Amino acid sequence: MTKPKALSQSYWELSAQQTYAAEIRKTLAERYVSPPLAYVHSFGCQQSVYDGERFKGLLAELGYGFTDEIRRADLILYNTCAVRENAEQRVFGNVGALKGLKKNKPGLIIALAGCMTEQQQVSEKLKMSYPYVDLVMGTNAFARLPELLYRVLIDGKRSIRRDPAGDLTLYEEVPVLHESRHKAFVPVMYGCDNFCSYCIVPYVRGRERSRLPDDVAREVEKLVSHGCREVTLLGQNVNSYGKGLQEPCDFADLLRRINAIPGDFRIRFMTSHPKDCTPRLLDAMADCEKVCRHLHLPVQSGSDRILQAMNRHYDLRHYEQLLAYARQRMPGLSVTSDIIVGFPGETREDFEQTLELVRRVRYSALFTFIYSKRSGTAAEKLPDPTPAAEKSKWFRELLEVQGAIGSELLQGYVGQTLRVLAEEEGRTPGTVSCRTDDNTIVEVAAPPERIGEFFKVRITEAMNWALRGEVTG
Ligand code: SAH
Ligand code: SF4
Repeated sequence: MTKPKALSQSYWELSAQQTYAAEIRKTLAERYVSPPLAYVHSFGCQQSVYDGERFKGLLAELGYGFTDEIRRADLILYNTCAVRENAEQRVFGNVGALKGLKKNKPGLIIALAGCMTEQQQVSEKLKMSYPYVDLVMGTNAFARLPELLYRVLIDGKRSIRRDPAGDLTLYEEVPVLHESRHKAFVPVMYGCDNFCSYCIVPYVRGRERSRLPDDVAREVEKLVSHGCREVTLLGQNVNSYGKGLQEPCDFADLLRRINAIPGDFRIRFMTSHPKDCTPRLLDAMADCEKVCRHLHLPVQSGSDRILQAMNRHYDLRHYEQLLAYARQRMPGLSVTSDIIVGFPGETREDFEQTLELVRRVRYSALFTFIYSKRSGTAAEKLPDPTPAAEKSKWFRELLEVQGAIGSELLQGYVGQTLRVLAEEEGRTPGTVSCRTDDNTIVEVAAPPERIGEFFKVRITEAMNWALRGEVTG
C-alpha cells in the first residue's frame, strides 16, 4: 500500500480558522455576560479521551468555560466510540435524553464528534431522527471546529462534516486541556492500516500517519517542563510508527529518543500489535530506564484458526516467543491483553485454547469483550451460529479464570517496597491512589497534596482489585 502524504502543519497557521475563532469570541462576548459553559464527555479508548482534551483546548480558545453539570451547559459535546455496538447505543441513549433540554434552552448547542459519526448510516440517522443535534464532526474534522461552530452559532445552520479519508494533515501545537497535570497522553500516530476482520477503526480513523519525532519530543519536553510525571505514547499500532517518514525512525528509535529527555518522568505506550512487535522494540524497552515495565500486547484469541479469521497475521507460537523474550529481558514484566470472546465461528475448543493461553501467560489484567458485529467489516458476513447466551457463559468463565490469576499475582507483591506515582484521591477517604511502574494500583494513606509525586511504599495487603501500602520514603 502506498503511504498517504501526511503533512505536518502548525494549527495556528490555519488563517481561516483564526478568522472564524475571532468572530466566535466576539459573538460569545456580546451574547453572554460571563463565559458560556461547555460540557465535554468522551467515550471509548485513550485516543478518544485525548481527542476530548483537544476539543476542550480549542473550546477554551474560543471563549468557553467548562462544567460537569450537563444542565448548566450552553454547548454539549459527546465525543463518541464505535468499537462495539453497546458503546453506540449508549451515545444514542444520551443524545435522546437531550431533546427536552434543548426545548427548554433553545440556544443550547449539541455537538457529536468522533468515531461513531464517521459511519454513513449513523450520520444519516442523526440527520433524520435527531434534528436537534446541531453539529457533527468526524475524527479528522476537529481542526475545523471554529468554522463548523461558526455556522451553527452565527449562521444558525446545522453543520455536519465526516470524511475519515479526508484531511490527513498532522496539526501541531493544537491547544489541549489535559485532565491531569501529572499524566498526559501523547499521540505518536493516527489511523490504522491493519483491517482486523472484526474492527471498525480503520474505516473511521483513516490511514496510518506518523507525527515527526521532533514534534513528539518537543511536546514531551514541554509537558515535563510543566510538571508532567508520566506520558503515554498513543497509537492504534505504535509498532508501525515511522512508516512513510522521510527520516527513518521506528518506534524503538522514538522510545530511546523520548527516554533521553531529561527529567523525572516515566513513559508508557499503547497499543502494540504482536505482528509488528520485534525483539528490537523489546530491547529498546529494556534499555530505557524511564519506560515502564508493562507491556500491553493484545492477543485477541488463543486459537490459531480464529487468529487467522481475525486477519491478525501472527500465530500463538510467534506471540508466546515474543513474550518469552520480553520476560527474559525484563524479569517481573507485567503483561496485559485484550481478548474477544465469541468471534463468528469460534467453537468451544477454540475458546478452551484461549483459556489455556491465559493460564500459561498469567496476565496481570485482561480487557475482555464479547464480539460485536460492525457494519462494513469483513467479519460482518461470517456465519455466527453460537448463541449469545453461550458466548456470555464463556465470557464469565474467562473472567473467573483471569480473576483467580490476577488475585494470586497481587498476593505476590505483599512485603515488597516499590516506587509509585501518586495519581488521585483514593476510594477510601484520607488515601491516595498510586500506580507502580508495572501499572498496579496501590492505595496509601497520604494527604492529597502529595498527588503528582513519586514515592516509595511498602505493600502491606492485596485486595481484589489493587494493593494497600504505607509510605516509606
Ligand atoms: N488498536 C488496538 C485496539 C483497538 S480497539 C489493537 O489493535 O490492539 C480495542 C479492543 O477492542 C481491541 O483490541 C479488541 O479486543 C476490541 N474490539 C475491537 N473491535 C471489536 C468488536 N467488533 N467486537 C468486540 N471487541 C472488539
Ligand atoms: Fe482495529 Fe486491528 Fe487496527 Fe487495532 S490493529 S485498531 S484491532 S484494525
